[in-house]
Amino acid sequence: MNFRRNFEIVNHTQMKKAIVLGAGGFIGSHLVRFLKNQNKWVKGVDLKYPEFSKTAADEFVIGDLRSPEVVKNVLDLPYDEVYQLAADMGGAGFIFTGDNDADVMHNSAMINLNVLHYGKEIGIKKVFYSSSACIYPEFNQLDPDNPNCKENSAYPAQPDSEYGWEKLFSERLFFAFKRNYGIEAKVARFHNIFGQEGTWEGGREKAPAAICRKVAQAKDGDKIEIWGDGKQTRSFLHVSECLEGISKLMESDDFHGPVNIGSDEMVTINQLAEYVIKISGKKLSLKHIDGPLGVRGRNSDNHLIQEMLNWRPTRPLIEGLRTTFNWINEQVHCS
Ligand code: NAD
Repeated sequence: MNFRRNFEIVNHTQMKKAIVLGAGGFIGSHLVRFLKNQNKWVKGVDLKYPEFSKTAADEFVIGDLRSPEVVKNVLDLPYDEVYQLAADMGGAGFIFTGDNDADVMHNSAMINLNVLHYGKEIGIKKVFYSSSACIYPEFNQLDPDNPNCKENSAYPAQPDSEYGWEKLFSERLFFAFKRNYGIEAKVARFHNIFGQEGTWEGGREKAPAAICRKVAQAKDGDKIEIWGDGKQTRSFLHVSECLEGISKLMESDDFHGPVNIGSDEMVTINQLAEYVIKISGKKLSLKHIDGPLGVRGRNSDNHLIQEMLNWRPTRPLIEGLRTTFNWINEQVHCS
């Protein structure tokens, strides 16, 4: 374990203190920046530094949160806010092949068990946990035009991946610590978050980033490979609105979730690809190939978040896709 401090901020006694676990990852690194903009003192922890820009954290610890010792050391204060985003995860190519099931379940569960145990010991006040739309039962997501992802449809449970089962277990773990030890646990179920500085190659990237990369690499006349028939539906939320959602949930006095944080602008994967092609201005077509797919249809149901937090994401998909494509295009042509 090693750590690095940003020394610019010397007197932080009056500031709220936050710790972001998974601060080297996609959403975590954006979240650190967001919390700094709210004038909080922020510690980040991860196996790695953020890949695409310098961390904004006041202190950044490189450490493995599966280790009880590391978690005990990093949870050295009764932080005002703990954000638990660290997880062994990836896109469909990582989650749905079955090859990574044991690691996905073991690694993420270990992290969550350690964080809650040592968080309770040190007296943390509020903790945010990032669950996933992958917890929803497969049988409610067979019709691509009419998936049911209402929060109260999670049980009886039948997620379509071990990643989803681990998330469901950990949601319950966070709420058990709330009931028994008074930790104010808040749980959100993210639906396909995307944006700049997200993984875009290597096998863990999600559909928007993978499609942006393929389009950025293509020349006029090429075919873009799409897994399956492309008629499966999903919604995609830009990371900026995900951060707003997290913040609204953390600020709420009496609502703890679990709640969806996702867009309800549902598109097919073919439509997603057509959007990106249009943004690129290239003349490309689609080629459908076999690949890991996940459920047939999925969309965020935003009734509960609107009702409880008086907020829901509203920005059009195409806006976020434009900035994400431009960023991935730069990465492709600079590497
Ligand atoms: P990410 O993979 O970019 O970030 C996760 C981070 O956790 C990585 O930086 C990784 O190094 C770190 N990590 C993994 N194991 C660790 C360990 N043992 N010790 C310390 N750090 C460890 O993923 P992300 O997209 O930023 O997702 C953040 C959270 O949101 C995850 O919990 C994920 O399951 C959840 N989520 C994300 C999405 C999405 O669309 N991005 C959707 C649903 C849920």
